[in-house]
Amino acid sequence: MAILIDGKAAAERLRAEIRAATSDLTPRLGRPPGLAAVLVGDNAASRVYVRNKVRACEECGILSRKIELPASASQQELEQLVDSLNEDNAVDGVLVQLPLPPHLNEQAILRRISPAKDVDGFHPLNAGKLLLGEDCFEPCTPAGVMVLMDRYGIEIKGRHAVVLGRSNIVGKPMAMMLLRRSATVTICHSATNNLPGVVRLGDIVVAAVGRARLVQGDWLKPGAAVIDVGINRLPDGALCGDVDFDSAKEIAGAITPVPGGVGPMTIAMLLSNTLKSARLRGGQ
Ligand code: NAD
Repeated sequence: MAILIDGKAAAERLRAEIRAATSDLTPRLGRPPGLAAVLVGDNAASRVYVRNKVRACEECGILSRKIELPASASQQELEQLVDSLNEDNAVDGVLVQLPLPPHLNEQAILRRISPAKDVDGFHPLNAGKLLLGEDCFEPCTPAGVMVLMDRYGIEIKGRHAVVLGRSNIVGKPMAMMLLRRSATVTICHSATNNLPGVVRLGDIVVAAVGRARLVQGDWLKPGAAVIDVGINRLPDGALCGDVDFDSAKEIAGAITPVPGGVGPMTIAMLLSNTLKSARLRGGQ
């Protein structure tokens, strides 16, 4: 029976550490760290995500500003808003909640955010630095996975990590972070042949695919550490991951649940990146 990796508890501890660091930093900066979250349109899920991020900021002593634009906002309006946040000294982190309405050019907006305030880590400069192994803002979800594995003592160096998914937000940066820590990394995607056979090579399996319960227990190497990034909604409204938890927990050595695994770590890492930006910008 696998060890349950409790992301909720780990994220709570991380948030307490961030709160302590923020209250230490604020008097030295003469202001609290600041995060600006931009929400365009009325996507219900995006609204919940932004609300949760703003709430988490408040709890950790980070000043957050939520800026809403209508779904009809033009590219120019959004770019002007990003420019003004880039120039605002009280703002350390700028995030534009994705997805944007289809008439807006998402890549152009992400490139517009100052790399020094890119707390989501989606700017090409930060993505490039991650690839080169330089210090940078790392995308929050894979960064949270690394912290979670470290806190549970999961060894990475020299082990075979299989990453399912190659998105710019999760799969690719996840693979780079594991590589930087000297794992042997295999990246799987929608065109991978014999997926179960490849997953079975993994001492560490990270699933970030968006397919409910795709990874079955009998795909796993006994004792593997299984990190489930997927968030899928079942027809009955319940949430589940990309891993079939019930069969996987019998074979894995450690496993994250969904919900309560990777999800809570993502927001904690956003706060951590905002704190890092405030320190760097304030010369602390
Ligand atoms: P995405 O749709 O951008 O990418 C999915 C990837 O999975 C693609 O690279 C694709 O090649 C691969 N894929 C699709 N079907 C496959 C299959 N049958 N076999 C193997 N690979 C396949 O998704 P994303 O943004 O990377 O997110 C992945 C999942 O993680 C989603 O469920 C998303 O909701 C979740 N997510 C969770 C968090 C969190 O905080 N926990 C954050 C981001 C994303």
